[in-house]
Amino acid sequence: MTHKTERGEDKPFGGISLAYREAHGLTPQKIAETMCAFYEEVAAMCARVETQLAESGIRLKCHAGCCACCQDGLTMTQAEAAVIRKLYPEIGLEVPHGAGQCAFLDDAGKCRIYEARPLKCRTFGLPLVWQGESGDTRDICELEADSVDVQALPSHALCRPELADTKLGIMEIATFGALKRVSMRSFFEHKKVSG
Ligand code: SF4
Ligand code: SF4
Repeated sequence: MTHKTERGEDKPFGGISLAYREAHGLTPQKIAETMCAFYEEVAAMCARVETQLAESGIRLKCHAGCCACCQDGLTMTQAEAAVIRKLYPEIGLEVPHGAGQCAFLDDAGKCRIYEARPLKCRTFGLPLVWQGESGDTRDICELEADSVDVQALPSHALCRPELADTKLGIMEIATFGALKRVSMRSFFEHKKVSG
């Protein structure tokens, strides 16, 4: 896809400029509000799965400070990044966690942007399923795998992140005009790492 800029030059894969978005009401505040409503839907989806698991006697092990899932190199959409900037405007001034784990972790292994964490982080620990042409693919955190047989779970006890992923992608295109991934570590550019 090629867009023409105001000066007429081609801009392949160009997004929608901040000025244009703001002129059409897509302010950072509006984007954050839309995303907060979206995260509420995701929370409801996760809660339904947790309830189904609890009814089968399964309690997940996730707790604050358990952070093997918080790997380095994760990315997010521009809309997810906008929520972090809105809720944690000072986070980029802090020192990022050292290489090997997510830059947003603190020294105690807790997420410093927990309320604004991206979609991917909101389903960590839940049994996940993706539909493919040759059948379903199921997965769960390796720390849960010894106590939860993800292959044996009924379908209503599985989380389907692809539905939320698709909705997020549509919102991203509608808001920014292009899909662009933002790395977690990029929030801290020019900062020294901790540890
Ligand atoms: S954003 Fe927070 S929850 Fe997500 S990987 Fe980083 S530290 Fe973990
Ligand atoms: S998903 Fe796994 S590593 Fe992450 S908090 Fe849950 S049990 Fe711990």
